[in-house]
Amino acid sequence: MVQKVLITDNIAENGIKLLKREKDIRVDVRIGISPEELLEIIPEYEALIVRSQTKVTRDVIERGERLKVIGRAGVGVDNIDVQAATEKGVIVVNAPEGNTISAAEHTIAMLLSLVRRIPQANSSLKSGRWDRKKFMGSEVRGKTLGVIGLGRIGSLVASRALGLEMKVLAYDPFISKERAKELGITLTSLQEVIMKSDFITVHTPLTDATRHMIGENEFKMMRKGVYIVNCARGGIIDENALYNAIKSGKVAGAALDVFEEEPPVNSPLLELEEVIATPHIAASTFEAQKSVGLIIAEEVINALKGLAVKNAVNLPPIKPEEYEFLKPFLMLGEKIGILSARLIEGEIHEVHVKYYGVLASSDTAYVTRAVLKGVFDSILGGGVNLVSAPMIATSRGIDVVESSTTETDNYTNLIEVELHGKNQVRKVMGTSFGKQDIRIIKIGDYNVDFIPKGHVIISLHEDRPGVIGRVGMLFGKYNINIARMHVGRTVDVPGGIAIMVLNVDNPPSSEVLSEMERLDGIVNAIHVNFGG
Ligand code: NAD
Repeated sequence: MVQKVLITDNIAENGIKLLKREKDIRVDVRIGISPEELLEIIPEYEALIVRSQTKVTRDVIERGERLKVIGRAGVGVDNIDVQAATEKGVIVVNAPEGNTISAAEHTIAMLLSLVRRIPQANSSLKSGRWDRKKFMGSEVRGKTLGVIGLGRIGSLVASRALGLEMKVLAYDPFISKERAKELGITLTSLQEVIMKSDFITVHTPLTDATRHMIGENEFKMMRKGVYIVNCARGGIIDENALYNAIKSGKVAGAALDVFEEEPPVNSPLLELEEVIATPHIAASTFEAQKSVGLIIAEEVINALKGLAVKNAVNLPPIKPEEYEFLKPFLMLGEKIGILSARLIEGEIHEVHVKYYGVLASSDTAYVTRAVLKGVFDSILGGGVNLVSAPMIATSRGIDVVESSTTETDNYTNLIEVELHGKNQVRKVMGTSFGKQDIRIIKIGDYNVDFIPKGHVIISLHEDRPGVIGRVGMLFGKYNINIARMHVGRTVDVPGGIAIMVLNVDNPPSSEVLSEMERLDGIVNAIHVNFGG
């Protein structure tokens, strides 16, 4: 089925190309479309890609009845009603890592320009002067850089500062000491960063907690002659307090890429010789734009294909390395969800997901979402995603119970899903051997070992000679190729009822399945489509 993507702000050509390369995706580029036109055409589209100009309001989202994903080519999502998107199960993705390097490099450029007074010297020279004494600077080597906010950009700035042989002190209450140690950085209190740094650079988001986190009191505690850099968000530093601190001589200079009001109107800071400034361009590089365009195109493609996305704004945040680790388990969880829902009849009351082994110590909330996606996709015939899956459970009154244990017998990791319905419980377990190699290893009490991919027939049969041969004959008659076959028992003794799992290259019709169920020795047979 062809899905349509609407692009309403400028994104890099390489991203558009990537989208167009997908044979099931059609791309319409309508830069500068009016809000009225957007409302009119949005019902046709499965995806909308914007930068910061297009306002994606609640109305747009509600009228976009086919919308699955909104891509923001950049970071901030102030122009998107994320709450409305979440309520409708629309994934909002952004590309926060796309401009990280550019922002970090700009920060370093600002720091060096500030301490060597390059912009001032440049203006002076161009206005006809040759003033070498006035522009005496300082080295940064051996000086202390205080980094507030050690996230993506803060940590890159810190590592670049170490390359300049600076000492780095950092404050970030949400980063572990181990992570800082890996980066070779000393994590300390905000007060110590403020008191002991020769340069202070902020890299936090602007939140209620960070608004004016550097204000009059903090400036009082700083070393005399400190330099301040803000390439993060205007408002983290109190501009009035900064002005006073520069005027009093406490702060030697400030480099600002961002302002409380943008563009800044009549800002007294811009009149100060000690202040150098750029118009919010830290992320403005060709490389960042290309990278953001590619990332957003990839994310939108993944979301349209129902695959996991890395940067969903309306999902709990996940670190890139954690995401890489969880990727096979997201796939496995979804497949177990599909299978368990296929095995249960009637309504589901509870979903129990249990994680074993190495999984127990990771952030499994995502995997539980993937399990629910599989369950509900099976029941609702598709269209469920990681954002909407938990909401579907809540709206249907289905309890989701998650637990974990580090213990396992023969596997390093296991996911066990139990669906509780009216008078029935269905249990499926699976494991991952590597990035691509996922297996179902238990259905109820039956030990199995098969790859949950494509079309699979699962059948119970009497454990006696001849039954499997009859199944082979039947599939041969209908030209259905059996790619893999697995037979399993609950306990390893002959007789009783055994399980047969067939990976087939093409799906069997319901007539073939019925004929299979009528074969001598076959108890039942179901077809499960696990997808790719
Ligand atoms: P990030 O989310 O990776 O990192 C932010 C860090 O701030 C996190 O580690 C978080 O734990 C920390 N933090 C949050 N609250 C804090 C607090 N109260 N005290 C100390 N630390 C706190 O974000 P990022 O991608 O590194 O971006 C950092 C900032 O840079 C953001 O404000 C972003 O909007 C801005 N940015 C600006 C430009 C530009 O053009 N000037 C470009 C890109 C990003």
